[in-house]
Amino acid sequence: MIRTTCAYCGVGCGIVATPTGERAATIAGDRDHPANRGGLCSKGTHLGETIGLEGRLLHPMIGRKRASWDKALDLVAHRFRDAVAQYGPDSVAFYVSGQLLTEDYYVVNKLMKGFIGSANIDTNSRLCMSSAVAGHIRAFGEDVVPASYDDLDAADLIVLVGSNTAWCHPIVYQRIRARCDAGAKLVVIDPRRTETAEGADLHLAIRPGSDVALMNGLLAWCRAAGALDTAFLDDSVAVPDGFFAALEDGGDLWSTARACDVPAADLRRFYEWFAATPRTVTMFSQGINQSLAGTDQVNAILNLHLATGRIGKPGAAPFSITGQPNAMGGREVGGLATTLAAHRGFDAADRAAVQRFWSSPTIASKPGLKAVDLFRAVGEGRIKALFVMATNPAVSMPDAARVREALATCPFVVVSDVMADTDTGAFAHVRLPAAAWGEKDGTVTNSERTVSRQRAFLPLPGEAKPDWWIVAQVARRMGWRSAFAYDRPADIWREHVRLSNYGNDGRRLFALPGQGGGGNAGYDDLAPFRWGGRPFADGRFPTPDGRARLVPVAQKRAAAALPAWPMTLNTGRYRDHWHSMTRTGLSPRLARHRAEPLVSIHPADAARLAVEDGGLARVSTPAGESVYRVAVDEGQRPGELFVPIHWTDANASGGRTGLLPRPLVDPVSGQPGFKATPAAIAPV
Ligand code: SF4
Repeated sequence: MIRTTCAYCGVGCGIVATPTGERAATIAGDRDHPANRGGLCSKGTHLGETIGLEGRLLHPMIGRKRASWDKALDLVAHRFRDAVAQYGPDSVAFYVSGQLLTEDYYVVNKLMKGFIGSANIDTNSRLCMSSAVAGHIRAFGEDVVPASYDDLDAADLIVLVGSNTAWCHPIVYQRIRARCDAGAKLVVIDPRRTETAEGADLHLAIRPGSDVALMNGLLAWCRAAGALDTAFLDDSVAVPDGFFAALEDGGDLWSTARACDVPAADLRRFYEWFAATPRTVTMFSQGINQSLAGTDQVNAILNLHLATGRIGKPGAAPFSITGQPNAMGGREVGGLATTLAAHRGFDAADRAAVQRFWSSPTIASKPGLKAVDLFRAVGEGRIKALFVMATNPAVSMPDAARVREALATCPFVVVSDVMADTDTGAFAHVRLPAAAWGEKDGTVTNSERTVSRQRAFLPLPGEAKPDWWIVAQVARRMGWRSAFAYDRPADIWREHVRLSNYGNDGRRLFALPGQGGGGNAGYDDLAPFRWGGRPFADGRFPTPDGRARLVPVAQKRAAAALPAWPMTLNTGRYRDHWHSMTRTGLSPRLARHRAEPLVSIHPADAARLAVEDGGLARVSTPAGESVYRVAVDEGQRPGELFVPIHWTDANASGGRTGLLPRPLVDPVSGQPGFKATPAAIAPV
């Protein structure tokens, strides 16, 4: 019986795996894990069906030929070293993943930023929650999620914004339902009537992208109702001149209702509930983050909680819930191109501290290329060697057709993955077989900052190796032998813990408790723990003056409609699938929930456009087009379409959602705006 953590979403449920054969195990929820207390959703429950070797990459490959590890690693190190020598450190790049364990993430970030000397390492978490990171840093001074699942148990009002929690974070949703059964109210703010919205006391089906108007209107309402926490504002929050006066420019309740396209009576009810309920948790997800105004939308929520003092107390917090199992661990080690390591930035003091700690020959001098810019640089020939780990950008990046063209022209592409045939792997000069969930050891951090162990309970198949080992081997071959002389993930973990505390004057919240002992001592039996306690309970923030910041944000005017694309397209997940389905596609029971990609459309639009329920339709945008089966759905707002993200060239002929979003990003965070793409639909 092995205690580990689920492979999928950012809820981070504890799992008890009991091996029943060489490639078989029974899976149960871990009753002692604080995230799930024994519960599992359908994806976690059926993990046992996904641990076979079907489709696995089991040997290093150079082109289509099998190669030894030595030969493949020598080639990778040689090509990266040559590119750096000839074109400089910014000519190479890594694109990594929130699926990696913290130890993997730590080593690749150290190699790139501290030894190669460039910050051109970004992660698919850029696509998921980088707007939340940017918003936290603007408001709090550090990327800290000031909430925990326990806060849901204590809240009297739970507000879900841009989150189909019932499908995308099911165990958290169960916890919310339990709290609602005990009397808490649930408000869902989402353009679609999802399963989550159907369970709400109030559903505000707002116009996509009108979240800032809604939150600013609520803050103005709270001020008028005397619901601001003036003592907290005086002591703990820096308020820019004219901040509250600017809120009034948003107009009254009725003009906000018009801007958001919701009934004024519903909006008033929500505002009254919020103003009257100190114990409120506002949880937000991709509907907020994946927007061209994502960071402003995050700050509109944080402003609200700061100004009303709904932070740092039980049941009162803004709560960014992450998509991937280790998006948070990646943030902790600096997996984003815009942070260094251990929540440090690129100022001189932070750079010097990290370089001193690593005893490294160099350190990245500035933030690197964010995901969309990174692949643009690949397409423009500025990146001579690219290493992709545990992710599938040929499918998941916006404007995926351009990303494929870029990959096809890149002089040297390395992919480490567990699967043999991925859309991105088709462009690789070298493919390296990575260890999968159940085969490797390390740690992950979930949405509420709980760090848990993932533990191996299966043998490594073929010649597969953990990602940390692969990167360390490349680093050693590039000449940095002693700095990457890790024998086991525990060595990396302990170095990460030391760095999180190194030179910390106590102001930064990110500091991990020490784990004593050498070898695996203290690591093998590491129990789940949450770092940071209850952030901001003392009203102090990790800024130079100890105060949080209210950030003025204004609702952006809607872009002019494009006549050729009169509809608005939103994207998202299905309940029982994960990303590009390389794992969930192996489970017949999971496939039953949704067997194919559907485009959801309101009945009035379907009738007007002669699109039939169950028929095929072509969805097009300025970026591309793809064909879907039609699902007429009264839960859609008129004029809007919804498609799932999971289907790829490798698993379907249509439903290629990656082709549809434009490569446009939030100007602060660089997160792509997957939501609210101009679109058209026509029967096939
Ligand atoms: Fe896994 Fe997320 Fe389901 Fe928990 S809620 S079992 S972490 S997919």
